[in-house]
Amino acid sequence: MQACAGCGALVPEIDGRVHSYVPSSPGCWKTFGEVQADEMQRFGYPPAHRLVVDAYMAQHPGDGSDRRDRQSVFVHLVGLCAVLEGGLAHSHATQVLRRVVQRQDDFPTVKRTLRPGQLSVLHMLGAADAADYERRAGEWATAVWDSWSTQHELIGATLHAVLGGARS
Ligand SMILES: [Zn+2]
Repeated sequence: MQACAGCGALVPEIDGRVHSYVPSSPGCWKTFGEVQADEMQRFGYPPAHRLVVDAYMAQHPGDGSDRRDRQSVFVHLVGLCAVLEGGLAHSHATQVLRRVVQRQDDFPTVKRTLRPGQLSVLHMLGAADAADYERRAGEWATAVWDSWSTQHELIGATLHAVLGGARS
């Protein structure tokens, strides 16, 4: 076993495929794939899907040298903020994120200064049913969001700017 470089989860030490700009250990990336396959098979496309993807991507920030990494971390943090703080429905959050990407060509590098949070993708394994899956996703997403507390102001301001623009 090894600790994932991004989230700290203890995952099998394997040689495997990783995402080109998401710095997860192969065992963690594989687990994320398995969680998503299991989710699709058991629950279809549940509302919690949005949170699961946002939580995973936001928990694996790169160094910001790749524009796609900067955009990914920033936008997925806005996604967590939209659902957890803004109380937006998942489908609405998805529309909001599309607008965030459309209005900005590039994104600042956001740095996580705290530990990656107590929960990881491993928390999603073994969910009893759809309700349990959603509950676990909320707990994990909250832990990830809390680990980015030094960036809450910036991310929240971006969310408000997009929501404000939608109303005018
Ligand atoms: Zn990881």
